[in-house]
Amino acid sequence: MKLLDEIVALSHKFGTPDYVRGGGGNTSCKTADTLWVKPSGTTLAGMTAATFVAMNRAAMQRLYAIKVPTDSQAREELVKNVMAESVMPGHTGRPSVEAPLHELLSGVFVVHTHPALVNGMTCSRNGAEVCARLFPDALWIPYIDPGFTLCVDVRKRVQEFVAKTGKAPTLLFLENHGVFVTGNTADEIRATYNRVMDTLKAEYSKAGVGMTLVMSAPADAATVESARQAIASTLGSDAAAMAYSEGFAVAEGPVSPDHIVYSKSYPYTGQPTPAGLATFRATHGYIPKVVITSAGVFGVSPAMKQASLALELAKDGALVCQLAKAFGGIQFMTDRARLFIENWEVESYRQKQV
Ligand SMILES: [Zn+2]
Repeated sequence: MKLLDEIVALSHKFGTPDYVRGGGGNTSCKTADTLWVKPSGTTLAGMTAATFVAMNRAAMQRLYAIKVPTDSQAREELVKNVMAESVMPGHTGRPSVEAPLHELLSGVFVVHTHPALVNGMTCSRNGAEVCARLFPDALWIPYIDPGFTLCVDVRKRVQEFVAKTGKAPTLLFLENHGVFVTGNTADEIRATYNRVMDTLKAEYSKAGVGMTLVMSAPADAATVESARQAIASTLGSDAAAMAYSEGFAVAEGPVSPDHIVYSKSYPYTGQPTPAGLATFRATHGYIPKVVITSAGVFGVSPAMKQASLALELAKDGALVCQLAKAFGGIQFMTDRARLFIENWEVESYRQKQV
C-alpha cells in the first residue's frame, strides 16, 4: 500500500538521532476510516509497513463522548482500554499513548519527534514568544501531562485555531516535549521540517550558540577505571552495565518526559559512595541512571542497552540546555509535571520494551 510505504520512508528519515532517541517519537498515516500508527515499544528507524497498528478512527473518537474519571490512573486505564478496543482485527501491538493526537490532526501524514534543535526552543524560558516570532503559523501547546489530558487539550486548541484562522494547524510545538508536523503529502512534511530546522539553526548561529555538545578533554585510563570501580562497588547489579563518555554539562533537572524516562530527572554527582547513594535515594526515591565523576559521565543500568540510552539521553538533554541559551536559558519541568512522569505506568511499559 502506497500510503504505508510513504510513512515507512518518513519514519526512517526522521528516525535518526537528530530527531529522536530510543523509542521516542511516532508517526502515522490515515484514510477517512483508518489510522495506522507506530505502536509503543518500537523505534522509528525500525518501522516496517507490517509494524504499524491499524486503528478504527470512529472507535477512537468514542474517547470524546465518554465521561472520563477525574482520577488520573483510572482515566489513563480507561483510555488505554478504548485504544486497545480500537485496534483493527488481525493487528497486534499496543497503540502509542500519543495515538489519539495523530487521529485528531487533519493531515494524511503525521510525524512527531523530539529534536534537540527544536527542544532548545520548546524547553527554554522564552519558548512561547520565540515560537510566535519564528513560526507565526504554528500552534504552541503549553506543557500538559502526556496521555488523555494532553489529547483533550490539543483537540480544544486545534478547534480554536481553526475557528480563528480558518485552517487546521500543520505545525505544533509542545512545550518541554517536541514537535508535531502534519501534511497531506510526504513532501509537505519534509518541507515543514526543513523550514523548522533551518530557521532554528539560523537563530542558534546568530546567538553564537554551538549546535554540537561541548565535551571536556578525555580523562586518563586510570582515572576512568577508578571511577568505574567506585560505581561498581557502590551500585552493584544496578550498574552491571556502564556506558562511558568524556565529561559534558549534564542537565541539572528534568528537560522533557523522554529525558526522565531514560535518564531519570536528576544525575548523581561525584565519585559514588554508599553514604552518597543512600542520600541520593532518600532525596529522589530512585537509583541514579546517570553518574557524573571527574573522569566523565556514566550511564548505568543492569543492562547495556538501558545504560547506553541513559547516557544518550543525558547527552541530548545537555545539548538542549546548551541550545536553550539562545532563548533565555533552560526551563526545566515543574515538580508536579516531573512527578506525574515518574509515577507513570504507560511510559515504564515503553522503557521495558525498547
Ligand atoms: Zn513525544
